[in-house]
Parts: sequence; C-alpha cells; structure tokens
Amino acid sequence: MTDTASDEGFLLAVLNSTPVVDGVPTDDFADTTRARAWLAGAGGVGTEAELRHVLEVRQALQAVVRGEQPPDVMAPAIQGVTYVPAMEDGQITWTLSVSPDRELAVRAVLAWDALARHSPGRLRACANDECRLFLIDHSKANAGRWCSMAVCGNRMKARRHYQRIREMQAE
Ligand SMILES: [Zn+2]
Repeated sequence: MTDTASDEGFLLAVLNSTPVVDGVPTDDFADTTRARAWLAGAGGVGTEAELRHVLEVRQALQAVVRGEQPPDVMAPAIQGVTYVPAMEDGQITWTLSVSPDRELAVRAVLAWDALARHSPGRLRACANDECRLFLIDHSKANAGRWCSMAVCGNRMKARRHYQRIREMQAE
C-alpha cells in the first residue's frame, strides 16, 4: 500500500509549488532541472515525462480544490491505473501498478481522493485572496483559514485592523 502520510505531504507540496512572492505569481517547477531533481528526491524517477504528468495533475488539482473545475478533470490522470494483489506472510498486500513516469502524479490524485473521502473539506485554498497556497487542516476545530498563521493570518488581521481604522476616520 502507498504511504498516505507522505503522499499527503507530496500532494500539498505540489499544490503549493506556485506561490506568490512579493506580489508576483511564481512557479517552483519553472526550472525543469531543479524540478526533476526534486521529483526524484520525492520518490520519483526524475524524467521529463514525469514532470509533465505532475504539472498536468497540479493544474487540475489546484482548479478542483479551488472549486473552479469538477473532479472529473482528473479522470485522464488515473486512466489505466490498477492495484495488483500479492500474498505476503499470510496477508494480501496491494501495489499500485502504473508506468514509473506516471506514478507520482497518480499518487497525488489518490492522496487528494483519500482526503476528500476521509477528511472532506480539510484540504482548501488559503483564505487570503492574494495568496495561492493551500492548507490541510488537521485541527479538531477545522477552523484553519490560512496556509500559515505567521504569514497570511497576521497579514489579513493587520489588513482588517487598518480597514477598521480607516472606516473610523471616515465616520
Ligand atoms: Zn496564504
């Protein structure tokens, strides 16, 4: 079976690879050499085809989590994927069967599905509309709104604070 905890981490890292830096949208995977090395470090094969599959899936996942596209847009990413059973020490284990180039992209989609099933609504876009990052809220209250309290949480609080001051001055 795939490791859900690390696949979840991988999913979030892929979703968050297009951050806004100093007001400018950027892409951590724009440098393909670095991107391929990063994918190899995340358990992939580091090929150009793998990066292409991950980029396709990233675009679909970001749109789906933002509610801009239906989950069906990810159907091509999982086409032909199977699980193969094997008997090991008296237990059946299931192994993902897909070409090595596609495995990371498929695992990201499966991690999204596992979250949507077991923790619906926990994966969401940061509530700061100038931020393009995502968060997975594991807290009991499920009230997290920011990718990071230190960055977006404080920024939004400060913005509301100044808005209030401006409104008071305008009165
Ligand atoms: Zn944010």
